[in-house]
Amino acid sequence: MADDMTAPLLSDSEVSANALPSCPFRPTVVILGSGDFSRSLAVRLVGCGVRTVVGTRCVNRIPLGLFPDAVELKSQEEALAASQVECVVFMALFPEHYSSLLRLQSALVGKVLVDVSNAAEINIRGASNAERLAELFPHSLVVKGFNTVSAWDLQTGAHDGSKQVLICGDNTKAKRKVLQLAQDMGFHSVDMGGLSASRNIEVAPLRLFPSWSRPILVTFLLFLFFYGYGFLRGILLPFLAQGHNFFYRLALDLVNESLPAVALVMLALVYLPGLFAALLQLWRGTKYRRFPTWLDSWLQCRKELGLLSFTCAALHGILSICLPLRKVTQYKLINTAYKQVKAGVEEPWDEVGVWRSDLYLSCGVLGLGVLSLLAITSLPSVGNSLNWREFTFVQSGLGYSALMLAIMHTLFFGWDFAFHIEAYSFYMPPSYLIAVALPCTVLVCRCFLLLPCISNRLARIRHGWESRNSCPVLQRHQVVANGTSQDV
Ligand code: NAP
Repeated sequence: MADDMTAPLLSDSEVSANALPSCPFRPTVVILGSGDFSRSLAVRLVGCGVRTVVGTRCVNRIPLGLFPDAVELKSQEEALAASQVECVVFMALFPEHYSSLLRLQSALVGKVLVDVSNAAEINIRGASNAERLAELFPHSLVVKGFNTVSAWDLQTGAHDGSKQVLICGDNTKAKRKVLQLAQDMGFHSVDMGGLSASRNIEVAPLRLFPSWSRPILVTFLLFLFFYGYGFLRGILLPFLAQGHNFFYRLALDLVNESLPAVALVMLALVYLPGLFAALLQLWRGTKYRRFPTWLDSWLQCRKELGLLSFTCAALHGILSICLPLRKVTQYKLINTAYKQVKAGVEEPWDEVGVWRSDLYLSCGVLGLGVLSLLAITSLPSVGNSLNWREFTFVQSGLGYSALMLAIMHTLFFGWDFAFHIEAYSFYMPPSYLIAVALPCTVLVCRCFLLLPCISNRLARIRHGWESRNSCPVLQRHQVVANGTSQDV
């Protein structure tokens, strides 16, 4: 029994096999440079049990305790001499200083050099830093990588949110070595191909929300439109025509009126490109022809459009909760109560109004709840835990439910006013009626696509069926059968 307790659960051979499933041998890592990146990289490497040597221009300048004790601090020449040929050398210095290492050229022959630098500007003219490094050291094996992780990411440890490390290089063996090292350090390494890909990898950290710019612009323009429309219809024209001063509505009321309109239109914009794509496939009779570029990029930014729609809806919810706190609301309540007392009204109960307001609030809250679920499942960590069927159920099934609830929320709110002539002051319809037009069109189109004759044809197309007019193979067979030329 005592023996059982002292025996390890896994034998030594099992432990090492599990720790390093595909890397029986870890190369020594040399880091040239002792700056921020070098320090963080060294901490991470030592934490993963990799022998790490830092090569610096001046060992004496490095304060005691700056690097972990396990890191060997040497001059650049000694660091390279102390490592085997199979070692991986990280160039943790700025590319402007690469040429200062030319004297180490012979010591770097046959070694894997990892270029971790970022581009100085987004539009790279000529060769990338990694390509220039390869020109400077033609007898070394240059690999680009690790520039997309910051010194901070390196230090936060292997278990604190794994990040992608994009890696490229012309020598497959060298690249594999770096890919494996990144994996061992707890990163998710991605092979991006040959060294020419380094141009894209180098600018990747400089890009500011590349997939967000258009959705943000659309949201901003829609907000501007609805805010401007509301201002004109509800504030400026009444002031000019009747002298009413409603300018107090600018700060909260008008914002809270514009946000749900933007949220609704944005949600419709999430589902509209999918409908266009389906209609295009039906019309073409094939799925093997590319969509136009505008539709392709629209389809790709649906997640961002959806998240921005959720943000606007959530802000609308918060602002609506704040409405009763306003002084204006308090004044209006007291005023209404005073008028009722004066008119002798004792029971101002409005059965239809009560039902309508409850239904309107209930649809709004449910719609926001479903939208929150959509937003959560669009997070990669949550989305990855769903299979394809679950993901499409949430994103499409629940997405259309959210759209329907949002439309019902709007219609319950304004159904009464929509058909009254007073609602069209200055011949302008209320903004919620404008906002609801596109979502209603999307829902109608979706219902049309659900008709069995349409949905069956679409399903066949998506499983690879092609109409005779769209399929070059079928056309060729027909021409051959008709006894004419084989070329079409
Ligand atoms: P840094 O703190 O300024 O360190 C640069 C190091 O380069 C110096 O400490 C110096 O170390 C060394 N060096 C070698 N030859 C040099 C010379 N002739 N003149 C000046 N310095 C020389 O910079 P860093 O932030 O670590 O960045 C280093 C590289 O990593 C850059 O290419 C950067 O783009 C890339 N990078 C950095 C980060 C980050 O978060 N910091 C993230 C991704 C990529 P010795 O004096 O010991 O030789």
